[in-house]
Amino acid sequence: MNVRLFEIFTSVEGEGILYGTKTLFVRLAGCPFKCFYCDTKDSLPMDSGNEYTIEDACKLIEQNLEKNTYKVNFTGGDPLVQSKAVLEMAKFVKTKNIPTYIESSCFDSKKFAEILPYFDYIKIEFKTQDSEFVDLQHYSNLLENELQCLTFAINSNKTTYIKIVISSRTELEPFKQLIKKVFNIISESQIAGFIIQPSYGIAEPNLKQLFNFYDSVYPYYKQVRIVPQLHKFIGAP
Ligand code: SF4
Repeated sequence: MNVRLFEIFTSVEGEGILYGTKTLFVRLAGCPFKCFYCDTKDSLPMDSGNEYTIEDACKLIEQNLEKNTYKVNFTGGDPLVQSKAVLEMAKFVKTKNIPTYIESSCFDSKKFAEILPYFDYIKIEFKTQDSEFVDLQHYSNLLENELQCLTFAINSNKTTYIKIVISSRTELEPFKQLIKKVFNIISESQIAGFIIQPSYGIAEPNLKQLFNFYDSVYPYYKQVRIVPQLHKFIGAP
């Protein structure tokens, strides 16, 4: 089996509940979606990056592992696109006793369920309608998959948190409906965090808008946080 990797590098985790940790990022090539705020556009084509055998990709991971690395983050593109390869690489990282972390749009709950046993930290990202990830016609199917992935992660007792990117275009009412759906299937104690991440460099939301979204989550989850992509403030990749 082969895998296409866009890049592999050590940096500071700038997102989510583990921000600030020294992290090895394994960025998979390929994502068929179209978020307007995507900040990894170069990695979207399936033929971006370089192709490796799984064996060589694992060697590359081992060579790039610096001391005191807190976790290995499989990102993209969308890592679910090459889920079988991700599974094999995560399995390898587990043999090194380093925690594994997956960040995906959760567009395919079947693929997600297959890789889940090999991951310690799960970021479930819900895409809002305005993200342009998919068109309106396919949005409800995406949402079903994302909710299903959340259920799988919670049921597997994984450290799971939710992230939602908010831009100045995000509409509040559909967001409120989404939050209602989420907390219909989980309780406050089952997640390790809820991050509202403002879009960066494009359609940035203002503070008033951000607090509107924060206020919608707070009644369900008091530990909700507004956290920007912190790595961008120190010029880290
Ligand atoms: S899912 Fe991620 S990688 Fe794909 S277009 Fe959206 S932001 Fe970019």
